[in-house]
Amino acid sequence: MSQNSVSVLLVEDEEAIREMVNFSLTRAGFSVTEAADASVAQSLIGQQLPDIVLLDWMLPGISGIDLARRWRQDGRTQHVPIIMLTARGEEEDKLRGFDIGVDDYITKPFSTQELIARMKAILRRHSKPDADTVLVARSLKLDTVGHRVSVDGDSLTLGPTEYRLLQFFMSHPERVFTRSQLLDQVWGDDVYIEERTVDVHIRRLRKLLEPYACAKFVQTVRGAGYRFSQQV
Ligand code: CA
Repeated sequence: MSQNSVSVLLVEDEEAIREMVNFSLTRAGFSVTEAADASVAQSLIGQQLPDIVLLDWMLPGISGIDLARRWRQDGRTQHVPIIMLTARGEEEDKLRGFDIGVDDYITKPFSTQELIARMKAILRRHSKPDADTVLVARSLKLDTVGHRVSVDGDSLTLGPTEYRLLQFFMSHPERVFTRSQLLDQVWGDDVYIEERTVDVHIRRLRKLLEPYACAKFVQTVRGAGYRFSQQV
């Protein structure tokens, strides 16, 4: 996911955990705001809705679970994705018993990699479909509503993967993506696919674009990955 600064509200009273999570998420491109207790969290969410909340269960004062319940009952915050951070054992069991509609929970100690993977899965589920748009690169047009690709009015028939690949590229032009980023973005990380699969679909996509002189937009960046660029 291009974390085009996905905003994260991290509510956790243990400073060491906050620092670790903040560091890893920031490095992964997320924009993190920290709160050490429920009242700070409440005030922050009152100012701005984050894209996702990481919420510790055991907080001084109002507990994370009570805060989650309160947010779920409030029309403004009810759809904000929440991942509960819980301690092993009792909290886990209790959480199953509560039906407050948190999106997921993760047991401490957790790896930040796993946390990020879960966050991405939830964000994907929550992400609204793209606005009705036609992506354009010179004569190449991709209509995300009609799922149509055309060049100067000639329509092209793309396989589903090539279509998603092209849509992703055209929505993120001039940026280099590694094979693994493309796998994550275009295929999703629910499936295990080898990185060379990306090359196969890139080749197919280029072949489809070749007769229209648009294959050159899909560029190989040596040692890095691929980029979609009109600067050819
Ligand atoms: Ca705690």
